[in-house]
Amino acid sequence: MNDQYQANNIFAKILKGEAPCIKIFEDDYTLAFMDIMPQKEGHALVIPKQAATTIYDLTDQAALACMKTVQKVGKAVEQALNVQGTSIVQHNGNAAGQTVPHFHFHVIPGSLHGLKAH
Ligand code: 5GP
Repeated sequence: MNDQYQANNIFAKILKGEAPCIKIFEDDYTLAFMDIMPQKEGHALVIPKQAATTIYDLTDQAALACMKTVQKVGKAVEQALNVQGTSIVQHNGNAAGQTVPHFHFHVIPGSLHGLKAH
């Protein structure tokens, strides 16, 4: 755990089973679930189980595992919704628009054109 990590954030609670989520994939290092306020149908989130706030805090193992899970989830969502293309979005720090201080990838089917920045 890094020094700044806020252990009571909502994704930490989801990981501990203290808050609900619509889970779509889980392995030893990652969890994927649907975004509670989707920007588009099929908007999913991929998070590491590691207590990491930003991309700079990820271990090599967590970084690789997140990428592998993003690949799986992105392809699955494309197939499920019959769309082509996936937008992967990721914010680091308040100034960049990060609102939940636990590292996450947004996996959003199709194009981001016409959507707000986050
Ligand atoms: P950020 O702005 O930090 O890049 O994105 C945070 C994302 O987490 C937002 O898209 C927001 O809708 C989502 N989110 C916030 N709280 C919850 C929650 O309790 N459950 C789920 N599934 N998503 C959440």
